[in-house]
Amino acid sequence: MSTSIERMYGTLGISPEVLAFGREIEASLKERFEKIDNVAEYNQLKVLHAMQENKVSEACLYPSSGYGYNDVGRDTLEAVYATAFRTEAALVRPLIACGTHALAIALAGNVRPGDEILSPVGKPYDTLEEVIGIRPSKGSLAEYGVTYRQVELLEDGSFDYEAIRAAINERTRLVEIQRSKGYLTRPTFSVAQIGELIAFIKSIKPDVICMVDNCYGEFVEEQEPSEVGADLIVGSLIKNPGGGLAPIGGYIAGKQEYVDNAAYRLTCPGLGREVGASLGVNLPFFQGFFLAPTVTAGALKGAIFAANIYEKLGFSVTPDSTQERHDIIQAVQFGTPEGVIAFCQGIQAAAPVDSYVAPEPWAMPGYDSDVIMAAGAFVQGSSIELSADGPIKPPYTVYFQGGLTWEHARFGILMSLQKLCEAGIVKL
Ligand SMILES: *Cc1c(COP(=O)(O)O)cnc(C)c1O
Repeated sequence: MSTSIERMYGTLGISPEVLAFGREIEASLKERFEKIDNVAEYNQLKVLHAMQENKVSEACLYPSSGYGYNDVGRDTLEAVYATAFRTEAALVRPLIACGTHALAIALAGNVRPGDEILSPVGKPYDTLEEVIGIRPSKGSLAEYGVTYRQVELLEDGSFDYEAIRAAINERTRLVEIQRSKGYLTRPTFSVAQIGELIAFIKSIKPDVICMVDNCYGEFVEEQEPSEVGADLIVGSLIKNPGGGLAPIGGYIAGKQEYVDNAAYRLTCPGLGREVGASLGVNLPFFQGFFLAPTVTAGALKGAIFAANIYEKLGFSVTPDSTQERHDIIQAVQFGTPEGVIAFCQGIQAAAPVDSYVAPEPWAMPGYDSDVIMAAGAFVQGSSIELSADGPIKPPYTVYFQGGLTWEHARFGILMSLQKLCEAGIVKL
């Protein structure tokens, strides 16, 4: 006799064998999931406290238009972010087009010609290479006379303190620390590790601005990098803090002066944060931030579930099945193009939107190999929603993240396994 849940999985195309395999893995993860729920509980209270403390009212949820002067919803939302992230100020705007844009204005607003930017954690996120001018690009900071220096991580993924000390000089104005590994193989840093790094840097040069690219890290731990010394933290609202509801946007939180400097780049000198109507997005911004701690928890459970499933089947996974999590990204190395393709087709088939299309690898601009992407998201390109992508080149690794609910993340991973079984790549 099958239960109604088993029958529904069957209706959606999951075989009894795949479901049973998933159930067994899930049963072994109880304690870890409990810890995630505890972090979510804390962060839910943190966000709720920030909303009450700043007196969020019904009027905050209404649209504004035109210049957006005295947009009470926008200003209150920014105060809520600042309280939750324990910073002096925050800029949270739909005018910030994406995470890269937020990082770009935070950088450009806070350096001047002759200054130097230092990344003490190796190469920054791909898109920042053109922002900084590591790869020559029109309008890059390099064209404005800002130089850049980078210190690689040590072999074991730890900070090379001696090389960092040697790299800091009289022109070093801003240090950019990327929390998440993104699509690299290095480890993601814990908030505590970032705190140690910042303390070290400040001991050498106290007035340097320490900025953290916080993308994918929000609400994974109880603390954010702004609570351990970061002067600025920056992220995207179509990742964790948007809670899946924000349809666009980015945030910059930190010291008032540095946030203001970024605002003068976002709009223009003199106007800064005073203009910029929020149109109708205050409601989803507030509501998404309210949901973000539990949405992030669901995505984290999905990442750990995937790591345990695929490690058990003999694939190499990063982070591995038991490692502490500091972001929501899971990498699985399939070793063959067919593995990457079957996995992504499973994620797509599990989506609420566009589930009936099968993604294929294609030559995307900016990549040196074909790439396959699975994203059946409500918000285009949203990676807090269930999504996966992988370049079709050795070692044939898929990067997986998101899931607005744990129930959906679990289903997506089961569907990926189903497709791998159907393609004959995996035998249960
Ligand atoms: C997503 C991300 C960004 C910004 O990406 P956008 O696609 O522009 O939103 C920057 N850094 C990291 C680590 C990221 O994960």
